[in-house]
Amino acid sequence: MQGFERKDGALLVDGLSVAALADQFGTPSYIYSGARLLANYRQFAKAISGLDCQIHFAVKANSALGVISLLAGAGAGADIVSGGELERALRAGVAAEKIIFSGVGKQDAEIAAALRAGIGQINAESAAEIDRISLVAEQMGCIAPVALRVNVNVDPGSHAKISTGQASTKFGIPTADGQAAHLYRRISTDPHIRAAGLAVHIGSQIRDLAPFEAAYTALLSLAEQLQEEGLEVPGLDLGGGLGVDYQQSQPTDFAGYGALVTRLFGNRGYRLGFEPGRSITADAGILLTRTLYIKPGDDKQFVIVDAAMNDLLRPTLYEAFHLIEPVAEKLASAPVGLVDIVGPVCETGDYLALGREMGQLARDDLLAVFGAGAYGAVMASTYNTRPEAAEILVVDGTVHCLRPRRSLDDLLAAEINPLV
Ligand SMILES: *Cc1c(COP(=O)(O)O)cnc(C)c1O
Repeated sequence: MQGFERKDGALLVDGLSVAALADQFGTPSYIYSGARLLANYRQFAKAISGLDCQIHFAVKANSALGVISLLAGAGAGADIVSGGELERALRAGVAAEKIIFSGVGKQDAEIAAALRAGIGQINAESAAEIDRISLVAEQMGCIAPVALRVNVNVDPGSHAKISTGQASTKFGIPTADGQAAHLYRRISTDPHIRAAGLAVHIGSQIRDLAPFEAAYTALLSLAEQLQEEGLEVPGLDLGGGLGVDYQQSQPTDFAGYGALVTRLFGNRGYRLGFEPGRSITADAGILLTRTLYIKPGDDKQFVIVDAAMNDLLRPTLYEAFHLIEPVAEKLASAPVGLVDIVGPVCETGDYLALGREMGQLARDDLLAVFGAGAYGAVMASTYNTRPEAAEILVVDGTVHCLRPRRSLDDLLAAEINPLV
């Protein structure tokens, strides 16, 4: 079985009982399906198999070492956005030359660490950053492989907080005023830089292919223009952003996306890069939580569970919808009306779902929050001094605990209190 399925009403992950995992590891816990992770990766790879390309898994979507290693074993490189993620990717076994370093604010030490490791590419996002990369490379006596992340001013039609394609955002170097072309000429002549090509990433959770087409067409026209000038543009990094169906859990449209990029970039001689995150991991993970209390409200019930906004920030940060179901399917349990599923954190914004139709729930009922495999555990905090949720990965019938729940002793051991 690939992923989360029901058998005789009980929820299974790759054929194993989710309820049994809750008993073993407690709640809240993230549960990841190794089969679903690999199936998503392979479907993505298959959809672009006609192209000369490399997939770099966007580690920020799910940076558990075990998840990165599983995908690296299937051939994935890594797209990283910090020195911390560089360290993770290397420790997880990703080959340095398969790592791409993205992000607007790289520190000197992070640039140096990346060059020391010998990573495949740094995507630069400003003139000032290019200067800095060149300087660090000069000091280290090496040549930095640099691509320019361009801003093509395309609205991805996604939530404002995860849209990066418009000119108004901090991301990329604008193509509109000739700045990107100007800076590409500059990196092509810099003795400490090897110009690796162009990159674009317009945002996340993009389900309509039209914004991709607009962005990629603009990227391609800049690449052709630069080549006509005699500059070398060996690679085009097409970013991530492919969206998933959080509402109905319909399969992700890997094939449609693959057909689009194959039509646009097939046989053009570019080495292509892809940076999918969400589309690989979102539907491969659930957040498992248990009901603590049922509390009647004015016009709805509050279902108070043991997972909170510190475990899964997406509902309150992005107004994101996550499908939530009881782990044990209740037979013919009529909806009791609208419920808010909320956590114990002392904020009104602490909720996993608002205004849902649910059957009657009782104390200790297990709930599965679907679509939690991307931007879930990675965004967790210990707000309210709550230890992070455990993270569990099932691979080929074996259960691996990737991150045990920390004890309060461990949590507090990271602090120093000289005043007691
Ligand atoms: C976040 C990010 C990605 C991954 O985006 P998804 O929507 O998760 O596929 C890829 N590239 C860059 C530069 C990013 O910042």
